[in-house]
Amino acid sequence: MKLTENFTINELTYSVTAQANNIDNRPSVEVIANLKALCENVLQPLRNHLGCPVIVTSGYRCSELNKKIGGKQNSQHLKGQAADFVVPQKCLKEVFNYIKTTLPFDQLLFETCKGDSWIHVSFCQNGYNRHQAVENYPV
Ligand SMILES: [Zn+2]
Repeated sequence: MKLTENFTINELTYSVTAQANNIDNRPSVEVIANLKALCENVLQPLRNHLGCPVIVTSGYRCSELNKKIGGKQNSQHLKGQAADFVVPQKCLKEVFNYIKTTLPFDQLLFETCKGDSWIHVSFCQNGYNRHQAVENYPV
C-alpha cells in the first residue's frame, strides 16, 4: 500500500532484524497515520526535490524490534514518526542541509556509525515540531 507516490507501508516497516527474529512489525492504524504524515510532509517533498531514490533503512519499529536493535526507549520510530534513510546518488550532507533549511520536521539528525552515515528525520502531525537539527549526532 502506498503512503505517497514514492513510499509504501512495506518499505517504512520492513526490517531485516524483524524478519530474522520472527518479530511481527505490522503497524497499527495510528502508526500508519504517522508514517503517512512523515512521508507527506518530509520524505516525499524531499524525493520530489532530489529526483532520485531516497532509501529508507529503518522506519517504524515495534517495541520488541526497537529493543532488539538497541534503539532508545522513547524513540520516535516506535510511533512511526521517524525514519532513517540514505540517498546513494547525492551528498548526504547537502541533503541534510536542504531539509534543515527548507522542510518542516521535528528532529533531524546526521548519524554516523563505523563509517556508515544516514539521516534520521521525524515529524509530529498533531503537535509541536521542535525543528531541532544536530549535525554530528552520537549513535
Ligand atoms: Zn532513527
